[in-house]
Amino acid sequence: MSIPLNDLQAQFSSIKPEVMSAIEGVLDSMQLFLGPQNRRFEQSFASYCGCEYGISVSNGTDAIALALRACHIGAGDEVITVSHSFIATVEAIAQVGATPVFVDIEPDTYTMDWRQLEGALSEHTRAIIPVHLYGHPADMHPILDCAREHGLRVIEDASQAHGAMYQGKRVGSFGDIACFSLYCSKNLGAYGEAGICLTSDAELAQSLRVLRDHGSRILYQHEILGANARMDEIQAAILNVKMAHLDKWNEQRQAHAQLYSEQLQGIVETVPTVREGASHIFYVYVVQVRERDQLRQYLSEQGIGSGIHYPTPIHLQPACQHYGYTRGMLPITEAVCERIISLPMYPELTSEQLQVVIDGVKQNVMAVV
Ligand SMILES: *Cc1c(COP(=O)(O)O)cnc(C)c1O
Repeated sequence: MSIPLNDLQAQFSSIKPEVMSAIEGVLDSMQLFLGPQNRRFEQSFASYCGCEYGISVSNGTDAIALALRACHIGAGDEVITVSHSFIATVEAIAQVGATPVFVDIEPDTYTMDWRQLEGALSEHTRAIIPVHLYGHPADMHPILDCAREHGLRVIEDASQAHGAMYQGKRVGSFGDIACFSLYCSKNLGAYGEAGICLTSDAELAQSLRVLRDHGSRILYQHEILGANARMDEIQAAILNVKMAHLDKWNEQRQAHAQLYSEQLQGIVETVPTVREGASHIFYVYVVQVRERDQLRQYLSEQGIGSGIHYPTPIHLQPACQHYGYTRGMLPITEAVCERIISLPMYPELTSEQLQVVIDGVKQNVMAVV
C-alpha cells in the first residue's frame, strides 16, 4: 500500500462534480476577475473567521507583503517573526524592504515564544508576525499585549491554520490583518495560486483593495503604485465549493491526529501538544524522533510518504546570510529541526492507511531502540 504525505486527488474525487460545474459557471460568465465568486468568498471566509472584511489576493506571500504595505511598513523598519516557518513569511518582509528579526519558538507548540519579544525590540520595530504553524495557534494574547504596549502592528500568518481556534475565536481575528495562503496543499486550498487578507479595520481593508489592483479604485486612475495581486474567479469559485467542507475536513484531520497520538505516544519522543483553550487543525502532523532520517528512509521503503517542515531554519538559509544570524542564536528552533518528521495527513486517509503508517513507525522506532 502506498500512502502519500498528502493526496489532493482523493479530495478532488470527492467534490469533482461540484468543482467542475463551478469552473464552468465562471467560464460561461467570462467574468474572470473581481467578480461575484471573489465577493462571495471574501464575505464567507471573513465571517467564518469573525472578521469584517476579506480581501482576496494572488497568494499567501503577496498577502503578507500587501499587509505590511497597508501598514506603511518598509525600508528601515524591523518586523519580528519566527525562523521556524516557511520561507514566505520572510520573503514578504524582504519584499517590502523591511528587515526580519527572529525570535525563538516554544518547544512544545512550535510557535512564537512571546517571552522573547521584549529582547528583540528596537527603535525600528514596527510589527510582529506570529505564525500559526502546522495548524496550531500562536499564543496571541501575550503577543497582542506586547504589541499594544509598544505601538506595534500585528499581522497573523495564518497560512496553515484555516479554522483553528484560540480562546473561543478563530485565528485570523486577532491581529490588525491576518494573511492566509490558499495554496493547493493547505487545509483550504485552491487549484492554482490564491490567498486572502482579513481585517476588521475599514481603512486597512480599503488600502488592501487598492494595493492588490494596481493602486487603483477607478479604472486607469492610480492613487499609489500597487501590485497585480488579484485572485481569479475560477480559484474563488473552487474555494466557494471547498469552503462548505472545511469544518468537516478539519474534524477528519483532528480524528486522524488523535489516533496517531494515542498510538505513538511513548513510541516517538513527542507527539503534538495542543495549547489549553486552543484547537489544532493539523495542516501537518509532526512528531519528533531521534533517528529521524533513518525513520524517513524506512517509511519510504514501505511506500509511506513523510516530510520535514522545515529542515533548515530560515535564519540559517543561504538566502538569509546577510541578516547576520549564526548557529546557536535560536537554540530551540535549531534543535527541533533535527528531529521533526511529518507523517501522512489529509482528511481522506482511511483507517487502514493510518494503521499502516502507525505500524511502520512502531516497527522502525522500536528496532532502533
Ligand atoms: C504556504 C505558506 C505561505 C505562503 O503562501 P503561498 O500562497 O504559497 O504564497 C506563507 N506562510 C506560511 C506559514 C505558509 O505555510
